Amino acid sequence: MRIPLFSRGGNREIDPVCDMQVDTRNPPGGIFEYGGRTFYFCGPGCNRAFQREPEAYLSGDKKIQM
Ligand SMILES: [Zn+2]
Repeated sequence: MRIPLFSRGGNREIDPVCDMQVDTRNPPGGIFEYGGRTFYFCGPGCNRAFQREPEAYLSGDKKIQM
């Protein structure tokens, strides 16, 4: 795993789709719960993309270049 999804500090998480840091208190793209974990998104597009193919993004097979 290249990038830890749960970083230290607790206020920021990595958007699994585009690898941007997202403020967990106010995620611009909302959140999505999957596999017992909560993911945060920089925008609704990333959230929708992740919901469509969560495994592809978690395994690292798929990335969106911003
Ligand atoms: Zn994103």
